[in-house]
Amino acid sequence: MTACPRCSNTNATVFHEGKEGEELIWTLFGCPDCHYHWRDSEPEESINPAKRKAVFQMDTSNPDRYHLILPVRE
Ligand SMILES: [Zn+2]
Repeated sequence: MTACPRCSNTNATVFHEGKEGEELIWTLFGCPDCHYHWRDSEPEESINPAKRKAVFQMDTSNPDRYHLILPVRE
């Protein structure tokens, strides 16, 4: 199990491994708790919780804090 960069829960799993021949280039992870997905090749500002902006972090123990926002059609 891997820690999620967005919610810090440790339920993230490997979704896919990007390879060139036999060489592993990147790994795609997914978090079942907050539905964040990321590759380990992304910038630190995206995948390192210490470098991510706090506004983008999520506390899955308090889901009522996050409201559903429907897209606006024009
Ligand atoms: Zn998560």
